[in-house]
Amino acid sequence: MSELQELRNFIGGRWTAAGATEHVEVYNPARGVVIARTPLSTARDVDAAVRAAAAAFPGWSQTPPAVRARTMFAFKTRLEEHVEAIARLVTTEHGKTLDEARGSVRRAIECVEVACGAPSMLMGAGLENIAPGVDCTVMRQPLGVCAAIAPFNFPAMVPLWFLPFAVVCGNTFVLKPSEQVPLSQARLFELLETCDLPPGVVNLVNGGKAVAEAICDHPGIRAVSFVGSTAVARSVYQRATHAGKRVQALGGAKNFIVVLPDADLDRAMPIIAESFYGCAGERCLAGSVLVPVGPSHREVRDRMVAAAESLTVGDGLEPGVQMGPVISARHRDRVLGYLERGVAEGAKLVADGRRRKLPAEGFFVGPTVFDEVAPSMSLGRDEIFGPVAAVSPVAGLDEALRMMDAHPNANAASIFTSSGKAAREFAHRATASMVGVNIGVAAPMAYFPFGGARDSFFGDLKVHGRDAFEFYTDKKVTISRWF
Ligand code: NAD
Repeated sequence: MSELQELRNFIGGRWTAAGATEHVEVYNPARGVVIARTPLSTARDVDAAVRAAAAAFPGWSQTPPAVRARTMFAFKTRLEEHVEAIARLVTTEHGKTLDEARGSVRRAIECVEVACGAPSMLMGAGLENIAPGVDCTVMRQPLGVCAAIAPFNFPAMVPLWFLPFAVVCGNTFVLKPSEQVPLSQARLFELLETCDLPPGVVNLVNGGKAVAEAICDHPGIRAVSFVGSTAVARSVYQRATHAGKRVQALGGAKNFIVVLPDADLDRAMPIIAESFYGCAGERCLAGSVLVPVGPSHREVRDRMVAAAESLTVGDGLEPGVQMGPVISARHRDRVLGYLERGVAEGAKLVADGRRRKLPAEGFFVGPTVFDEVAPSMSLGRDEIFGPVAAVSPVAGLDEALRMMDAHPNANAASIFTSSGKAAREFAHRATASMVGVNIGVAAPMAYFPFGGARDSFFGDLKVHGRDAFEFYTDKKVTISRWF
Protein backbone atom coordinates (compact mmCIF):
# COMPACT_ATOMS: atom_id res chain seq x y z
CA MET A 1 0.00 0.00 0.00
CA SER A 2 1.34 3.45 -0.82
CA GLU A 3 1.57 6.00 1.98
CA LEU A 4 -1.34 8.02 0.62
CA GLN A 5 -3.72 5.13 0.84
CA GLU A 6 -4.27 5.53 4.58
CA LEU A 7 -4.62 9.23 5.30
CA ARG A 8 -3.06 10.59 8.47
CA ASN A 9 -3.63 13.72 10.45
CA PHE A 10 -1.01 16.44 10.81
CA ILE A 11 -0.98 17.66 14.40
CA GLY A 12 1.70 19.65 16.20
CA GLY A 13 4.11 19.30 13.28
CA ARG A 14 3.80 15.50 13.04
CA TRP A 15 1.89 13.07 10.88
CA THR A 16 -0.15 10.95 13.24
CA ALA A 17 -2.67 8.15 12.87
CA ALA A 18 -6.21 9.26 13.60
CA GLY A 19 -7.96 7.66 16.54
CA ALA A 20 -10.58 6.41 14.12
CA THR A 21 -12.43 3.14 14.02
CA GLU A 22 -14.28 3.98 10.82
CA HIS A 23 -13.09 5.04 7.38
CA VAL A 24 -14.53 6.46 4.18
CA GLU A 25 -13.29 5.22 0.83
CA VAL A 26 -11.79 7.79 -1.52
CA TYR A 27 -12.48 7.13 -5.20
CA ASN A 28 -10.99 8.12 -8.48
CA PRO A 29 -14.41 9.07 -9.87
CA ALA A 30 -13.28 8.74 -13.49
CA ARG A 31 -12.39 5.09 -12.96
CA GLY A 32 -14.76 4.13 -10.16
CA VAL A 33 -11.90 2.64 -8.13
CA VAL A 34 -10.89 3.18 -4.52
CA ILE A 35 -7.57 5.00 -4.22
CA ALA A 36 -7.32 5.81 -0.49
CA ARG A 37 -9.16 5.69 2.81
CA THR A 38 -10.04 8.68 4.94
CA PRO A 39 -10.10 7.99 8.66
CA LEU A 40 -13.14 9.40 10.42
CA SER A 41 -11.28 11.14 13.21
CA THR A 42 -13.01 11.78 16.50
CA ALA A 43 -13.52 14.72 18.86
CA ARG A 44 -10.35 13.57 20.65
CA ASP A 45 -8.33 14.11 17.48
CA VAL A 46 -9.84 17.58 17.13
CA ASP A 47 -8.96 18.28 20.75
CA ALA A 48 -5.34 17.19 20.15
CA ALA A 49 -5.13 19.52 17.13
CA VAL A 50 -6.63 22.44 19.05
CA ARG A 51 -4.22 21.88 21.93
CA ALA A 52 -1.27 21.88 19.54
CA ALA A 53 -2.58 25.02 17.84
CA ALA A 54 -3.20 26.73 21.18
CA ALA A 55 0.32 25.89 22.36
CA ALA A 56 1.78 27.40 19.18
CA PHE A 57 -0.32 30.56 19.37
CA PRO A 58 1.65 32.67 21.90
CA GLY A 59 4.91 32.35 19.97
CA TRP A 60 3.34 32.65 16.53
CA SER A 61 1.19 35.66 17.37
CA GLN A 62 4.32 37.45 18.64
CA THR A 63 6.28 36.65 15.48
CA PRO A 64 6.68 39.80 13.35
CA PRO A 65 4.14 39.95 10.51
CA ALA A 66 6.90 40.18 7.90
CA VAL A 67 8.40 36.93 9.20
CA ARG A 68 4.99 35.28 9.16
CA ALA A 69 4.47 36.50 5.60
CA ARG A 70 7.83 35.04 4.61
CA THR A 71 6.55 31.55 5.43
CA MET A 72 3.75 32.12 2.94
CA PHE A 73 6.25 33.37 0.35
CA ALA A 74 8.00 30.03 0.83
CA PHE A 75 4.66 28.22 0.49
CA LYS A 76 3.92 30.08 -2.74
CA THR A 77 7.28 28.95 -4.12
CA ARG A 78 6.57 25.33 -3.18
CA LEU A 79 3.13 25.51 -4.76
CA GLU A 80 4.57 26.93 -7.98
CA GLU A 81 7.07 24.07 -8.08
CA HIS A 82 4.32 21.50 -7.59
CA VAL A 83 1.36 22.95 -9.54
CA GLU A 84 1.31 20.04 -11.95
CA ALA A 85 1.55 17.33 -9.30
CA ILE A 86 -1.16 18.94 -7.17
CA ALA A 87 -3.41 19.43 -10.19
CA ARG A 88 -3.05 15.76 -11.12
CA LEU A 89 -4.02 14.77 -7.58
CA VAL A 90 -7.05 17.07 -7.73
CA THR A 91 -8.15 15.51 -11.02
CA THR A 92 -7.55 12.02 -9.68
CA GLU A 93 -9.58 12.45 -6.49
CA HIS A 94 -12.21 14.90 -7.76
CA GLY A 95 -12.62 14.21 -11.48
CA LYS A 96 -12.40 17.72 -12.96
CA THR A 97 -10.20 18.01 -16.04
CA LEU A 98 -6.51 18.66 -15.65
CA ASP A 99 -6.90 22.16 -17.07
CA GLU A 100 -9.65 22.92 -14.58
CA ALA A 101 -7.52 21.51 -11.77
CA ARG A 102 -4.54 23.61 -12.84
CA GLY A 103 -6.78 26.69 -12.84
CA SER A 104 -7.94 25.91 -9.31
CA VAL A 105 -4.36 25.57 -8.07
CA ARG A 106 -3.48 28.91 -9.67
CA ARG A 107 -6.43 30.47 -7.83
CA ALA A 108 -5.13 28.92 -4.62
CA ILE A 109 -1.69 30.42 -5.24
CA GLU A 110 -3.27 33.84 -5.75
CA CYS A 111 -4.71 33.61 -2.24
CA VAL A 112 -1.26 32.89 -0.85
CA GLU A 113 0.12 35.87 -2.78
CA VAL A 114 -2.50 38.22 -1.37
CA ALA A 115 -1.88 36.90 2.14
CA CYS A 116 1.80 37.80 1.71
CA GLY A 117 0.73 41.45 1.86
CA ALA A 118 0.00 41.01 5.57
CA PRO A 119 2.46 43.60 6.91
CA SER A 120 0.62 46.33 4.99
CA MET A 121 -2.84 44.85 5.36
CA LEU A 122 -2.52 44.49 9.14
CA MET A 123 -1.62 48.11 9.75
CA GLY A 124 -3.83 49.88 12.23
CA ALA A 125 -4.78 53.53 12.61
CA GLY A 126 -4.25 56.29 15.10
CA LEU A 127 -5.22 59.81 15.99
CA GLU A 128 -3.33 62.10 18.32
CA ASN A 129 -4.91 64.61 20.67
CA ILE A 130 -8.36 63.09 20.77
CA ALA A 131 -8.39 65.20 23.95
CA PRO A 132 -5.50 67.45 24.99
CA GLY A 133 -2.46 65.18 25.43
CA VAL A 134 -4.46 62.02 24.77
CA ASP A 135 -3.69 59.76 21.78
CA CYS A 136 -5.61 56.83 20.38
CA THR A 137 -4.38 53.87 18.32
CA VAL A 138 -6.11 50.91 16.74
CA MET A 139 -4.08 47.70 16.33
CA ARG A 140 -5.15 44.48 14.65
CA GLN A 141 -4.48 41.44 16.78
CA PRO A 142 -4.93 37.76 15.91
CA LEU A 143 -7.83 35.86 17.43
CA GLY A 144 -6.24 32.56 18.47
CA VAL A 145 -7.02 29.12 17.05
CA CYS A 146 -9.10 29.29 13.86
CA ALA A 147 -10.56 26.38 11.88
CA ALA A 148 -11.96 25.69 8.43
CA ILE A 149 -14.26 22.95 7.14
CA ALA A 150 -13.96 22.36 3.39
CA PRO A 151 -16.28 20.94 0.69
CA PHE A 152 -15.40 18.33 -1.95
CA ASN A 153 -15.54 20.43 -5.08
CA PHE A 154 -12.30 22.47 -4.91
CA PRO A 155 -9.93 20.38 -2.79
CA ALA A 156 -6.79 22.46 -3.26
CA MET A 157 -8.37 25.89 -3.62
CA VAL A 158 -11.02 26.32 -0.93
CA PRO A 159 -8.71 25.49 2.02
CA LEU A 160 -6.36 28.23 0.80
CA TRP A 161 -9.18 30.78 0.91
CA PHE A 162 -8.54 30.55 4.66
CA LEU A 163 -5.26 29.03 5.79
CA PRO A 164 -2.79 31.62 4.40
CA PHE A 165 -4.82 34.56 5.71
CA ALA A 166 -5.38 33.05 9.15
CA VAL A 167 -1.70 32.24 9.51
CA VAL A 168 -0.22 35.56 8.31
CA CYS A 169 -2.54 37.36 10.71
CA GLY A 170 -0.86 35.48 13.57
CA ASN A 171 -3.50 32.83 14.23
CA THR A 172 -2.95 29.12 14.39
CA PHE A 173 -5.10 26.85 12.29
CA VAL A 174 -6.98 23.56 12.04
CA LEU A 175 -8.27 22.29 8.67
CA LYS A 176 -10.85 19.60 8.09
CA PRO A 177 -10.89 18.51 4.43
CA SER A 178 -13.90 16.91 2.82
CA GLU A 179 -13.58 13.19 3.50
CA GLN A 180 -14.19 12.59 -0.21
CA VAL A 181 -11.05 14.44 -1.41
CA PRO A 182 -8.29 14.40 1.23
CA LEU A 183 -5.27 13.65 -0.97
CA SER A 184 -4.32 17.02 -2.42
CA GLN A 185 -4.82 18.64 1.00
CA ALA A 186 -2.40 16.14 2.53
CA ARG A 187 0.03 17.18 -0.22
CA LEU A 188 -0.46 20.87 0.66
CA PHE A 189 0.46 20.07 4.24
CA GLU A 190 3.57 18.18 3.15
CA LEU A 191 4.60 21.36 1.35
CA LEU A 192 3.72 23.51 4.37
CA GLU A 193 6.03 21.31 6.44
CA THR A 194 8.96 22.74 4.47
CA CYS A 195 8.02 26.40 5.01
CA ASP A 196 9.52 27.13 8.45
CA LEU A 197 6.22 27.17 10.29
CA PRO A 198 6.63 26.25 13.97
CA PRO A 199 4.90 23.00 14.99
CA GLY A 200 1.21 23.47 15.74
CA VAL A 201 0.70 26.57 13.58
CA VAL A 202 -1.12 24.50 10.93
CA ASN A 203 -2.94 21.26 11.68
CA LEU A 204 -4.98 18.85 9.58
CA VAL A 205 -7.72 16.60 10.92
CA ASN A 206 -9.37 14.21 8.47
CA GLY A 207 -12.93 13.16 8.98
CA GLY A 208 -16.58 13.87 8.43
CA LYS A 209 -19.54 15.28 10.33
CA ALA A 210 -18.22 14.38 13.80
CA VAL A 211 -15.02 16.36 13.22
CA ALA A 212 -16.99 19.34 11.89
CA GLU A 213 -19.26 19.27 14.93
CA ALA A 214 -16.32 18.97 17.31
CA ILE A 215 -14.80 22.05 15.63
CA CYS A 216 -18.06 23.98 16.11
CA ASP A 217 -18.24 23.02 19.79
CA HIS A 218 -14.60 23.19 20.89
CA PRO A 219 -14.12 26.04 23.37
CA GLY A 220 -10.50 26.51 22.28
CA ILE A 221 -11.46 27.57 18.74
CA ARG A 222 -12.21 31.26 18.20
CA ALA A 223 -13.33 31.36 14.56
CA VAL A 224 -14.78 28.89 12.05
CA SER A 225 -14.94 29.13 8.26
CA PHE A 226 -17.22 26.70 6.47
CA VAL A 227 -17.92 25.99 2.80
CA GLY A 228 -20.53 23.45 1.73
CA SER A 229 -24.23 22.94 1.18
CA THR A 230 -26.80 25.37 2.53
CA ALA A 231 -28.33 23.03 5.10
CA VAL A 232 -24.95 22.25 6.66
CA ALA A 233 -23.74 25.87 6.37
CA ARG A 234 -26.78 27.01 8.29
CA SER A 235 -26.36 24.41 11.01
CA VAL A 236 -22.60 25.03 11.35
CA TYR A 237 -23.28 28.76 11.58
CA GLN A 238 -25.89 28.28 14.29
CA ARG A 239 -23.90 25.75 16.24
CA ALA A 240 -20.57 27.58 16.16
CA THR A 241 -22.01 31.04 16.84
CA HIS A 242 -23.97 29.51 19.73
CA ALA A 243 -20.59 28.35 21.07
CA GLY A 244 -19.38 31.97 20.91
CA LYS A 245 -17.27 31.84 17.75
CA ARG A 246 -16.86 34.19 14.84
CA VAL A 247 -18.26 32.32 11.83
CA GLN A 248 -18.43 32.67 8.06
CA ALA A 249 -20.40 29.86 6.42
CA LEU A 250 -20.72 29.71 2.64
CA GLY A 251 -23.62 27.62 1.40
CA GLY A 252 -25.11 26.28 -1.79
CA ALA A 253 -26.19 28.08 -4.92
CA LYS A 254 -28.69 28.26 -7.75
CA ASN A 255 -27.18 30.64 -10.26
CA PHE A 256 -29.19 32.30 -13.03
CA ILE A 257 -27.72 33.32 -16.37
CA VAL A 258 -29.88 35.82 -18.21
CA VAL A 259 -29.48 36.27 -21.98
CA LEU A 260 -31.02 39.36 -23.55
CA PRO A 261 -32.02 39.39 -27.24
CA ASP A 262 -29.17 41.80 -28.01
CA ALA A 263 -26.46 39.43 -26.68
CA ASP A 264 -23.65 38.44 -29.04
CA LEU A 265 -24.45 34.73 -29.03
CA ASP A 266 -21.36 33.68 -31.01
CA ARG A 267 -19.25 34.94 -28.16
CA ALA A 268 -21.67 34.30 -25.32
CA MET A 269 -22.73 30.69 -25.88
CA PRO A 270 -19.32 29.00 -25.45
CA ILE A 271 -18.86 30.99 -22.22
CA ILE A 272 -22.35 30.08 -21.03
CA ALA A 273 -21.92 26.38 -21.84
CA GLU A 274 -18.64 26.38 -19.91
CA SER A 275 -20.40 27.92 -16.93
CA PHE A 276 -22.95 25.07 -16.82
CA TYR A 277 -20.71 22.14 -17.72
CA GLY A 278 -17.26 23.16 -16.44
CA CYS A 279 -16.21 20.97 -13.48
CA ALA A 280 -19.26 18.83 -14.43
CA GLY A 281 -21.46 21.52 -12.90
CA GLU A 282 -19.91 21.00 -9.47
CA ARG A 283 -19.11 24.67 -8.84
CA CYS A 284 -20.88 27.03 -6.51
CA LEU A 285 -20.61 29.64 -9.29
CA ALA A 286 -21.85 27.34 -12.07
CA GLY A 287 -24.77 28.39 -14.22
CA SER A 288 -27.83 26.41 -13.22
CA VAL A 289 -30.83 28.19 -14.75
CA LEU A 290 -30.49 29.68 -18.23
CA VAL A 291 -32.95 32.52 -18.73
CA PRO A 292 -33.38 33.63 -22.33
CA VAL A 293 -35.37 36.83 -22.56
CA GLY A 294 -38.05 37.33 -25.24
CA PRO A 295 -37.25 36.26 -28.80
CA SER A 296 -33.78 34.86 -27.96
CA HIS A 297 -35.33 31.72 -26.41
CA ARG A 298 -35.25 29.27 -29.29
CA GLU A 299 -31.78 30.14 -30.53
CA VAL A 300 -30.24 30.16 -27.04
CA ARG A 301 -31.79 26.77 -26.29
CA ASP A 302 -30.70 25.22 -29.60
CA ARG A 303 -27.16 26.48 -29.23
CA MET A 304 -27.05 25.17 -25.65
CA VAL A 305 -28.16 21.74 -26.88
CA ALA A 306 -25.48 21.79 -29.58
CA ALA A 307 -22.84 22.79 -27.02
CA ALA A 308 -23.92 20.04 -24.60
CA GLU A 309 -23.89 17.38 -27.29
CA SER A 310 -20.48 18.37 -28.62
CA LEU A 311 -18.60 18.12 -25.30
CA THR A 312 -16.03 15.36 -24.95
CA VAL A 313 -16.69 13.58 -21.66
CA GLY A 314 -14.16 11.28 -20.01
CA ASP A 315 -11.24 10.94 -17.61
CA GLY A 316 -9.95 14.45 -16.93
CA LEU A 317 -6.36 13.22 -17.08
CA GLU A 318 -6.76 12.38 -20.76
CA PRO A 319 -5.97 15.08 -23.31
CA GLY A 320 -8.93 16.52 -25.16
CA VAL A 321 -11.45 15.67 -22.44
CA GLN A 322 -13.67 18.70 -21.72
CA MET A 323 -15.82 17.35 -18.91
CA GLY A 324 -15.07 14.78 -16.23
CA PRO A 325 -17.30 12.67 -13.98
CA VAL A 326 -19.23 13.77 -10.89
CA ILE A 327 -17.76 13.00 -7.50
CA SER A 328 -19.41 9.70 -6.55
CA ALA A 329 -21.83 6.98 -7.61
CA ARG A 330 -24.26 8.33 -5.04
CA HIS A 331 -24.07 11.83 -6.44
CA ARG A 332 -24.42 10.52 -10.01
CA ASP A 333 -27.59 8.71 -8.99
CA ARG A 334 -28.88 11.84 -7.31
CA VAL A 335 -28.29 13.88 -10.48
CA LEU A 336 -29.93 11.17 -12.61
CA GLY A 337 -32.88 11.31 -10.23
CA TYR A 338 -33.32 14.96 -11.20
CA LEU A 339 -33.47 13.97 -14.86
CA GLU A 340 -36.31 11.56 -14.10
CA ARG A 341 -38.09 14.06 -11.91
CA GLY A 342 -37.69 16.79 -14.54
CA VAL A 343 -39.48 14.63 -17.11
CA ALA A 344 -42.16 13.63 -14.59
CA GLU A 345 -42.78 17.27 -13.63
CA GLY A 346 -43.31 18.28 -17.26
CA ALA A 347 -40.04 19.95 -18.26
CA LYS A 348 -38.94 19.31 -21.85
CA LEU A 349 -35.82 17.16 -22.09
CA VAL A 350 -34.01 18.54 -25.16
CA ALA A 351 -30.51 17.08 -24.59
CA ASP A 352 -30.60 13.81 -22.66
CA GLY A 353 -27.26 13.10 -20.97
CA ARG A 354 -28.35 9.49 -20.37
CA ARG A 355 -28.24 8.78 -24.09
CA ARG A 356 -24.61 9.77 -24.42
CA LYS A 357 -22.05 7.04 -24.84
CA LEU A 358 -19.99 7.45 -21.69
CA PRO A 359 -17.01 5.56 -20.26
CA ALA A 360 -18.28 2.34 -18.68
CA GLU A 361 -16.27 2.83 -15.48
CA GLY A 362 -16.62 5.93 -13.36
CA PHE A 363 -19.38 8.21 -12.25
CA PHE A 364 -20.40 10.01 -15.43
CA VAL A 365 -23.50 11.97 -16.32
CA GLY A 366 -23.81 13.31 -19.86
CA PRO A 367 -24.41 17.05 -20.32
CA THR A 368 -28.16 17.62 -20.23
CA VAL A 369 -30.55 20.43 -21.18
CA PHE A 370 -34.17 20.83 -20.11
CA ASP A 371 -36.41 23.47 -21.64
CA GLU A 372 -39.61 25.06 -20.28
CA VAL A 373 -38.50 24.67 -16.67
CA ALA A 374 -40.83 26.45 -14.25
CA PRO A 375 -39.36 27.89 -11.03
CA SER A 376 -41.62 25.59 -9.00
CA MET A 377 -40.15 22.40 -10.55
CA SER A 378 -37.32 20.64 -8.75
CA LEU A 379 -35.04 21.50 -11.68
CA GLY A 380 -35.80 25.18 -11.16
CA ARG A 381 -35.61 25.06 -7.39
CA ASP A 382 -32.89 22.69 -6.18
CA GLU A 383 -29.13 22.89 -6.44
CA ILE A 384 -28.39 19.89 -8.66
CA PHE A 385 -24.58 20.28 -8.69
CA GLY A 386 -24.23 18.35 -11.93
CA PRO A 387 -24.09 18.98 -15.69
CA VAL A 388 -27.76 19.85 -16.08
CA ALA A 389 -29.02 23.11 -17.59
CA ALA A 390 -32.58 24.26 -16.87
CA VAL A 391 -33.84 26.70 -19.50
CA SER A 392 -36.54 29.02 -18.11
CA PRO A 393 -37.62 31.54 -20.76
CA VAL A 394 -39.11 34.87 -19.65
CA ALA A 395 -40.70 37.85 -21.38
CA GLY A 396 -38.48 40.60 -20.02
CA LEU A 397 -35.65 41.58 -17.68
CA ASP A 398 -38.07 42.42 -14.86
CA GLU A 399 -39.47 38.91 -14.92
CA ALA A 400 -35.94 37.46 -14.88
CA LEU A 401 -35.02 39.56 -11.86
CA ARG A 402 -38.24 38.57 -10.07
CA MET A 403 -37.51 34.89 -10.72
CA MET A 404 -34.01 35.27 -9.27
CA ASP A 405 -35.32 37.19 -6.30
CA ALA A 406 -37.85 34.50 -5.49
CA HIS A 407 -35.12 31.89 -5.11
CA PRO A 408 -33.67 31.59 -1.59
CA ASN A 409 -30.07 31.24 -2.82
CA ALA A 410 -28.24 34.31 -4.06
CA ASN A 411 -24.66 33.36 -4.80
CA ALA A 412 -23.92 34.44 -8.37
CA ALA A 413 -25.87 35.76 -11.34
CA SER A 414 -24.85 36.77 -14.86
CA ILE A 415 -26.28 38.73 -17.74
CA PHE A 416 -25.29 38.54 -21.40
CA THR A 417 -26.15 41.67 -23.36
CA SER A 418 -24.66 44.42 -25.48
CA SER A 419 -26.66 47.06 -23.63
CA GLY A 420 -24.76 48.95 -20.95
CA LYS A 421 -28.03 50.23 -19.54
CA ALA A 422 -29.50 46.74 -19.13
CA ALA A 423 -26.26 45.43 -17.66
CA ARG A 424 -26.13 48.29 -15.19
CA GLU A 425 -29.71 47.70 -14.14
CA PHE A 426 -29.09 43.98 -13.70
CA ALA A 427 -25.92 44.49 -11.64
CA HIS A 428 -27.71 47.05 -9.52
CA ARG A 429 -30.86 45.02 -8.84
CA ALA A 430 -29.62 41.41 -8.67
CA THR A 431 -29.57 40.16 -5.08
CA ALA A 432 -26.70 37.73 -5.70
CA SER A 433 -23.40 39.08 -4.39
CA MET A 434 -21.27 37.97 -7.31
CA VAL A 435 -22.51 39.34 -10.61
CA GLY A 436 -21.15 38.74 -14.10
CA VAL A 437 -21.69 40.96 -17.13
CA ASN A 438 -20.86 38.87 -20.20
CA ILE A 439 -18.98 36.61 -17.75
CA GLY A 440 -20.18 33.06 -17.11
CA VAL A 441 -18.44 32.35 -13.81
CA ALA A 442 -18.26 35.53 -11.75
CA ALA A 443 -15.39 34.42 -9.49
CA PRO A 444 -13.80 37.32 -7.61
CA MET A 445 -10.00 37.27 -7.59
CA ALA A 446 -8.19 36.70 -4.29
CA TYR A 447 -7.96 40.43 -3.54
CA PHE A 448 -11.75 40.90 -3.74
CA PRO A 449 -14.37 39.50 -1.36
CA PHE A 450 -15.94 36.14 -2.28
CA GLY A 451 -19.29 34.99 -0.96
CA GLY A 452 -23.01 35.10 -1.62
CA ALA A 453 -26.11 36.44 0.06
CA ARG A 454 -29.30 35.10 1.67
CA ASP A 455 -29.25 31.28 1.87
CA SER A 456 -25.88 31.15 0.14
CA PHE A 457 -24.00 32.85 2.95
CA PHE A 458 -24.27 32.97 6.73
CA GLY A 459 -22.10 35.53 8.48
CA ASP A 460 -20.84 39.02 7.88
CA LEU A 461 -17.32 39.03 6.52
CA LYS A 462 -16.69 37.33 3.20
CA VAL A 463 -13.80 35.21 2.06
CA HIS A 464 -10.34 36.48 1.02
CA GLY A 465 -9.43 40.06 0.07
CA ARG A 466 -9.62 42.68 2.81
CA ASP A 467 -12.45 40.82 4.50
CA ALA A 468 -10.05 37.99 5.36
CA PHE A 469 -7.83 40.36 7.35
CA GLU A 470 -10.95 41.65 9.12
CA PHE A 471 -12.22 38.15 9.83
CA TYR A 472 -8.94 36.89 11.25
CA THR A 473 -8.16 39.83 13.54
CA ASP A 474 -9.71 41.77 16.35
CA LYS A 475 -9.27 45.52 16.60
CA LYS A 476 -7.71 46.74 19.80
CA VAL A 477 -8.11 50.41 20.66
CA THR A 478 -5.59 51.94 23.06
CA ILE A 479 -6.17 55.42 24.51
CA SER A 480 -3.05 56.89 26.15
CA ARG A 481 -2.22 59.84 28.32
CA TRP A 482 1.28 60.36 29.74
CA PHE A 483 1.59 62.50 32.87
P1 NAD B 1 -21.43 19.32 2.31
O1 NAD B 1 -22.25 20.35 2.99
O2 NAD B 1 -22.00 17.96 2.14
O3 NAD B 1 -20.05 19.10 3.11
C1 NAD B 1 -19.18 20.19 3.39
C2 NAD B 1 -18.34 19.83 4.61
O4 NAD B 1 -19.19 19.67 5.74
C3 NAD B 1 -17.54 18.54 4.47
O5 NAD B 1 -16.28 18.73 5.05
C4 NAD B 1 -18.36 17.52 5.25
O6 NAD B 1 -17.56 16.52 5.85
C5 NAD B 1 -19.00 18.38 6.33
N1 NAD B 1 -20.34 17.92 6.73
C6 NAD B 1 -21.22 17.19 6.00
N2 NAD B 1 -22.37 17.03 6.68
C7 NAD B 1 -22.22 17.68 7.85
C8 NAD B 1 -23.07 17.90 8.99
N3 NAD B 1 -24.31 17.42 9.02
N4 NAD B 1 -22.59 18.63 10.03
C9 NAD B 1 -21.35 19.16 9.98
N5 NAD B 1 -20.51 18.98 8.94
C10 NAD B 1 -20.93 18.25 7.89
O7 NAD B 1 -20.97 19.94 0.92
P2 NAD B 1 -20.17 19.22 -0.26
O8 NAD B 1 -21.09 18.24 -0.92
O9 NAD B 1 -18.85 18.75 0.22
O10 NAD B 1 -19.90 20.46 -1.23
C11 NAD B 1 -20.83 20.89 -2.19
C12 NAD B 1 -21.61 22.07 -1.68
O11 NAD B 1 -20.73 23.13 -1.33
C13 NAD B 1 -22.55 22.66 -2.72
O12 NAD B 1 -23.76 22.97 -2.10
C14 NAD B 1 -21.83 23.92 -3.17
O13 NAD B 1 -22.67 24.94 -3.67
C15 NAD B 1 -21.19 24.35 -1.90
N6 NAD B 1 -20.08 25.25 -2.15
C16 NAD B 1 -20.29 26.57 -1.91
C17 NAD B 1 -19.28 27.47 -2.17
C18 NAD B 1 -19.52 28.94 -1.95
O14 NAD B 1 -18.60 29.72 -2.16
N7 NAD B 1 -20.70 29.34 -1.52
C19 NAD B 1 -18.05 27.03 -2.66
C20 NAD B 1 -17.86 25.67 -2.88
C21 NAD B 1 -18.89 24.78 -2.62
